[in-house]
Amino acid sequence: MFDNLSEKLDKAFHVLKGHGQISEVNVAETLKEVRRALLDADVNFKTAKEFTNTVKEKALGQNVLTTLKPGQLMVKLVKDELTELMGGEAADIDLSGNPSVILMAGLQGSGKTTFSGKLANFLKNKKTKNPLLVACDVYRPAAIDQLHVVGDQIGVEVYSDKENTNPVAIAKAGIAHAKANGHNVVIVDTAGRLAVDEQMMDEISNIHKAIHPNETLFVVDSMTGQDAVNTAKAFNDVLDYNGVILTKLDGDTRGGAALSIKSVVNKPIKFIGTGEKMDAVDVFYPARMADRILG
Ligand code: GDP
Repeated sequence: MFDNLSEKLDKAFHVLKGHGQISEVNVAETLKEVRRALLDADVNFKTAKEFTNTVKEKALGQNVLTTLKPGQLMVKLVKDELTELMGGEAADIDLSGNPSVILMAGLQGSGKTTFSGKLANFLKNKKTKNPLLVACDVYRPAAIDQLHVVGDQIGVEVYSDKENTNPVAIAKAGIAHAKANGHNVVIVDTAGRLAVDEQMMDEISNIHKAIHPNETLFVVDSMTGQDAVNTAKAFNDVLDYNGVILTKLDGDTRGGAALSIKSVVNKPIKFIGTGEKMDAVDVFYPARMADRILG
């Protein structure tokens, strides 16, 4: 994960090797390389610039107070700042409703259906949760079938209605079904399109208004780099969602989405997808991710 970024950051810290002290010059040189590494990882320009400015201020400010060598100090400062950049603390999901309703949003192919199954499985394994999956993609019958396959795999009931072409009505009926059958979590999987368009945004916004979800989660493919960040912004403008799910982190992703999304939309990444299987999901811990990046 993020191998290229890790390698380039490691090289950046080499600039400080052999220097006994932090100085304006060696900090500037190191951070130039750090910024380049971030830009190569597809972090957006403004985020990368603010990042290196913050680290620079801290490095020059802390110099006299630390017993760390310049290289160690810089690694620590970059690690702390990467953690902040990715949201600081891990963020919970709100399961307070009965049922608590979780709405999935995102483009087609981002991994919504897969993640809906993973989340249902994750919650089911908590024992106190009895989730229901609701299939609201009225355009692609295959998407409904796919959710049923996922539901069968993990032993979670799926509510669908192939006769109904109104996703708002299906979502509402799904929630009523959950209430009548003792499901305390409802996960609503929705239709996405290949790119942001008005019809998709109207539809997801109508579902959102009608069902008042406890959580709206925006699902995005981490392999799509800056597009992921732009899409995150477009959905956030319409839905003001609660959190981001970053999928396909097992692939050859450069890291830009993971590092830029929080600073651009100010919403936490809550889970990451790390494979196609139902257990390939992790709660997102910014500090652990920063540790991994810096090796
Ligand atoms: P949707 O259209 O948003 O519902 O997307 P899907 O859930 O159908 O996912 C699209 C494709 O991405 C499928 O082939 C999934 O198996 C795959 N996929 C989803 N999440 C992950 C992940 O975390 N890692 C990998 N490698 N593949 C994933």
